[in-house]
Amino acid sequence: MSDVLAVADHRRGELRDVSYEIITAGRQLADETGGDLHLAVISGTVDDFAEKLNRDGVDAIHTVSHGEEFNHDVYTQAIAQLYDDLAPQYVLTPNSVNGLDYAPAIANQLDLPIVTDTIDLDNDGETLVATREMYGGKVETTNELSGDAVVTIRGAEWPAAEGTGDAAIEAFEADIDEDAVGSTVNGFEEVGGGDVDISEADVLVSIGRGIEEEENLDLIRDLADALGATLSSSRPIVDNGWLPKNRQVGQSGKVVTPDVYIAIGISGAVQHVAGMKGSDTIVAINTDPNAPIMDIADYAIVDDLFDVVPELIDEFDG
Ligand SMILES: Cc1cc2nc3c(=O)[nH]c(=O)nc-3n(C[C@H](O)[C@H](O)[C@H](O)COP(=O)(O)OP(=O)(O)OC[C@H]3O[C@@H](n4cnc5c(N)ncnc54)[C@H](O)[C@@H]3O)c2cc1C
Repeated sequence: MSDVLAVADHRRGELRDVSYEIITAGRQLADETGGDLHLAVISGTVDDFAEKLNRDGVDAIHTVSHGEEFNHDVYTQAIAQLYDDLAPQYVLTPNSVNGLDYAPAIANQLDLPIVTDTIDLDNDGETLVATREMYGGKVETTNELSGDAVVTIRGAEWPAAEGTGDAAIEAFEADIDEDAVGSTVNGFEEVGGGDVDISEADVLVSIGRGIEEEENLDLIRDLADALGATLSSSRPIVDNGWLPKNRQVGQSGKVVTPDVYIAIGISGAVQHVAGMKGSDTIVAINTDPNAPIMDIADYAIVDDLFDVVPELIDEFDG
């Protein structure tokens, strides 16, 4: 019988969806090991968060009231102390910006193995088989773990837990060493270009690395204008500083669900697809007929974007 300790995620006063999903993943694992599911809620309005997270499948909720926002050192200390206190077999965290910040530190501190970004977990009572993708989602690998472990789970892979639960909510008095807390959150600043919310757009023209040069972006802007569409992009375009962060679609960008999503020169890496797979109609323009984006495209134009886009502009402008 082995317990699971799952950690909730929140940012700027809001619980992230993955906090509900991790309950489902944790419950499944706890059922397989015959143990309990403990949920840790650290920092922020913990009582309110705990109430919202008290859903079917949670056996106990432990709140650690310390500061408002995520803090690496507070989380690391609190989780390590909860691990000592509860002795779970698995520490389950979201594979989020926060989770990826503290999970490796926890694994290091507790001398446990870690598997990140898992999309499936299966325990036969002795061995945990954790599945994760590699090479941009082209292959799945299984990792077998026989003892205690830290596991991060990818968002949107497990359904959100539903139904009101009756878990006991207990304040955990973590002994936080303030001298070891090396950073504080002083506030949030929106990254530039906050004028446009791509998640609200009906039609998105999205550009990827196939555009080659920043100067070529004008061609895509012209197409967006001709279609009355909003411009978005894959991550490399933002990383290059060619478009602001709020235009990025994907796992570390925004999730969009437009009526039409036109992916131009975008390969369709799993982290990109995570942000746009809910689009009603997906059009891909790509020279590579085997690009992963083709697997989810409703319409595909296998051709050079520098030939196709001017023709589309002519068609829609004319
Ligand atoms: C933790 C993490 C988070 C990430 N988050 C995101 C995210 O939020 N969003 C995101 O997009 N990525 C994200 N990534 C990066 C992701 O893995 C890919 O690297 C990225 O999506 C690739 O962008 P791309 O498709 O524009 O470029 P590429 O993969 O290089 O694809 C370019 C495509 O353009 C095509 N092409 C080239 N020339 C032409 C032409 N002339 N005409 C037509 N087609 C052409 C090629 O065939 C190719 O398919 C993340 C990665 C990690 C590790």
